[in-house]
Amino acid sequence: MTFDELGLGPNVLKAIHEAGYETPTPIQEQAIPHVILGGDVTGIAQTGTGKTAAFVLPMIHRLAQGRARARMPRCLILAPTRELAAQVAESFETYGKHLKLSMALLIGGVSFKEQDKLLMQGVDVLIATPGRLMDQFDRGKLLLTGVETLIIDEADRMLDMGFIPDIERICKLLPPKRQTLLFSATMPPEITRLAETFQKDPKRIEVSRPTQTAETITQHVTKIETGGDKARRVALRAILRTCDIKNGIVFCNRKREVDVVVKSLAKHGFDAAAIHGDLPQAYRTQTLEKFREGELTLLVASDVAARGLDIPDVSHVFNYAPPPKDEDYIHRIGRTGRAGRTGESYTIVGPDDEKAWAGVRRMIKTDVRDFMPEGLEDELKGLGEDAGSSRKGRGSRRSGPDDSKRSRGQPRDKARSGAPEKESGSERRSRGGRRRDSKRNNGSELEPAADGVTGFGEHVPDFLKR
Ligand code: AMP
Repeated sequence: MTFDELGLGPNVLKAIHEAGYETPTPIQEQAIPHVILGGDVTGIAQTGTGKTAAFVLPMIHRLAQGRARARMPRCLILAPTRELAAQVAESFETYGKHLKLSMALLIGGVSFKEQDKLLMQGVDVLIATPGRLMDQFDRGKLLLTGVETLIIDEADRMLDMGFIPDIERICKLLPPKRQTLLFSATMPPEITRLAETFQKDPKRIEVSRPTQTAETITQHVTKIETGGDKARRVALRAILRTCDIKNGIVFCNRKREVDVVVKSLAKHGFDAAAIHGDLPQAYRTQTLEKFREGELTLLVASDVAARGLDIPDVSHVFNYAPPPKDEDYIHRIGRTGRAGRTGESYTIVGPDDEKAWAGVRRMIKTDVRDFMPEGLEDELKGLGEDAGSSRKGRGSRRSGPDDSKRSRGQPRDKARSGAPEKESGSERRSRGGRRRDSKRNNGSELEPAADGVTGFGEHVPDFLKR
């Protein structure tokens, strides 16, 4: 099938052609004709399937008819994080460039004032994170009664972040006669209920199974017997040195870990930069841009920071440790081996990760190769059990092979054996109540730290410079 057969107008087709896309992806093929006709869609699809274009293209086509009115957006798109919202906005710019459509973006890090002005002028599309949208609505700057189409992107992330009450409230403010498109990588019961409540006879489109890893990915595991952060870092460097990396992502379970790993990699001469929710928005945007442009080899990231981001296919994925949630393993390694290309993944499994790793193995049911870089075992033996723990030096323990043997039988460092630290305690939001945006800055991926980040600064992406 070609894009020409989907019912899109010439201006949209021209933009698709200029973007270099030749054939629609399965979700685009199934969703576009249905959305053009005004139908609801429940799309079960992950990033990388082309899901953004699956809703943006037909939306642009529909919006081409009609005009925007002051304070009354015609299409509302909700995304869980600023980065995702910004990516959707970028797609709108790309595919809508031959049409005169206007857009506002309500996300942390973009000034209210600018967006207020745009809203007052009237926008066709409003892209927002739920908290920012509610703030704007509560300030009386916005009317939602003109919304013809609601799009909820990454609904399962919204659930994880405690946004469902916000979404329910927003849905109730919209005209009942509207089109609703909902996209989610998984369909937990809460999302199914949301879809049942707010959609009308939706077409269900499922394009990938989250428990399958691509056959094009060669998976490796490096099991280390020595505990401690230093051992893990030594192992990571040893693995990195054996790989011919074009570009890769190193996944960590904690933000603190991301910081330590990126520092250590830089110290040892690797080209690496971090991305997680505590870093200023301008820095994150810049880092991602560099990575996309091929100016940065290694991106060190937390799951939350990386989830949903439109990062090009990478050659390698490294797991500093197995993820706390089994299915995140699929999301992580799914960053490589896309679209039939080959990719490699490496997972470091330490003495305390056996249970997490067993969970991953049960889920993926595919082959994982044991991999031990040359010399690593000896190097690790030289470290001792808790070498590299942050309190190294206290008691000036001498580490050596005997030391490591002795300590192996002893209780492990508690900090490593407990549940992984959450993103500053707020990565998972309370599912009960909605919080104001002003409270949403304690390390979540949503909003910037209250101080220091006022916007994109000098690094305003092109699509925001309207
Ligand atoms: P998404 O799943 O929306 O995050 O999209 C993943 C990536 O696929 C983005 O970089 C898109 O630019 C790209 N993409 C979307 N549709 C197509 C297509 N039909 N052909 C090739 N690439 C596409």
